[in-house]
Amino acid sequence: MEAAVAGEVAGFLAAARAAAGDGGAPFAEVEALARAAGRAVANAMAQFGADLVCAGAGPGECGCGRQAPVHSVRSKTVATMTGDVALTRAYCYCRECGEGFCPADRALGLDGRSRSEAVDMAAAAAGREAPFAAAAALIEEIGGVRVVSAKTCDRVVKEVGGRARQIMRADAEAAARATPAERARRWDRAATAYVAYDGTGVAMVPSETEGRKGKGPDGRSHTREDKIARLFTQTGRDKDGQPVMDKDSSSFVTTFEPVGPFSAQVAGEALRRDVSRAPRLAVLGDGAVWIWGMADRLWPRATQIVDFYHAVQHVNELADLLKPHLGGERPKEFAKSLRDLLKQGDITGLAAKARQVAVPEDLKDEVGVKTAYFTKNWHRMQYAKFKAAGYFIGSGAVESACRSVAEDRVSRSGMRWTVEGADRVIALRALHRSSEDRYAKLWTRPANPPALAQAA
Ligand SMILES: [Zn+2]
Repeated sequence: MEAAVAGEVAGFLAAARAAAGDGGAPFAEVEALARAAGRAVANAMAQFGADLVCAGAGPGECGCGRQAPVHSVRSKTVATMTGDVALTRAYCYCRECGEGFCPADRALGLDGRSRSEAVDMAAAAAGREAPFAAAAALIEEIGGVRVVSAKTCDRVVKEVGGRARQIMRADAEAAARATPAERARRWDRAATAYVAYDGTGVAMVPSETEGRKGKGPDGRSHTREDKIARLFTQTGRDKDGQPVMDKDSSSFVTTFEPVGPFSAQVAGEALRRDVSRAPRLAVLGDGAVWIWGMADRLWPRATQIVDFYHAVQHVNELADLLKPHLGGERPKEFAKSLRDLLKQGDITGLAAKARQVAVPEDLKDEVGVKTAYFTKNWHRMQYAKFKAAGYFIGSGAVESACRSVAEDRVSRSGMRWTVEGADRVIALRALHRSSEDRYAKLWTRPANPPALAQAA
């Protein structure tokens, strides 16, 4: 190992001197030489460490408790961030059980693995943010070594995403087991906790949507709904008095499962975050009935708010429907006056104005349904009052949860997913974007280990 390292260092020094002797090398060239030498040195060191463990390990204890004698010497290759490392180690075999294993692999934490944890961390990070082929290329471009293929990156993200899901589940279960005192958080008296709901359709491979009715032109569904909840807090206001989301206060719950299991997950996360003891609590949603049913059951004292931007969309739809029948009023002004009424929270006025329009008989039902959306939710649309009381009524930050956690990654053009695949990618992103550094729980080692002590 020392010879390999010394050789790399000497090679670098010679190349750097030669380049400088030519009248000066661009720094980019020097840096590229240095990084190549650094990778080679790091790889030699990793090989050295692996060799030490391999030489010292075995014979080993079988799962049955018996000593398993060394049977043979076997080799395998492990991908690391600086290239491959070869493990040549004893293979032990227990005759009683008919089981074989390599004690060195266990000691190295590489039992059944052909990649270092650093490789998995890189693949998970890049594959979490970008399509797998682009992610693999990105790692190679930045690191200078081809570490994973697109296929491996895919596999790592799904595997780590599965662990992310387990961590979220375990955290919620731990919260359910904890006593109220253990769960209690210190709440700022000015704080408001929010539970904001949204959902997004993710395009699926045909087998995942077979027999499901949907809005597609053929009457079938080609997507599955990913339900998302974002829990966050708000304490401060900006200089205009607008509420500001507390930094690093978000956590996410996401699933393709139906409402029942989803509510259970949201309830678990809310418990973990001690949401029900927040000085104020608000539930924000797009108006889907089940959301309010869930809110009534879990947090009866919460203020329920229909996300303002969803409500505006509904206003625009209603205005479009009524547009051809307005008589004298201009469509643009009509739509604006409906939106103004909405902003004021004058839902009765809004509904009355819509009903005043004389529509043909065959349109009456549809207008009725669209108007009922407002009258049913009137108490959740008191926007002027909500604003005066300092509540978020739905903002870019709330809306962007779906985009950031799911759509940006899984809804790119041409993508088709399995439910499990999309779920794991989204779970990984959800954990990564959640506060309290829960993402670190995925790994056995901290991302940045402490520096080595200087050798005497
Ligand atoms: Zn055995």
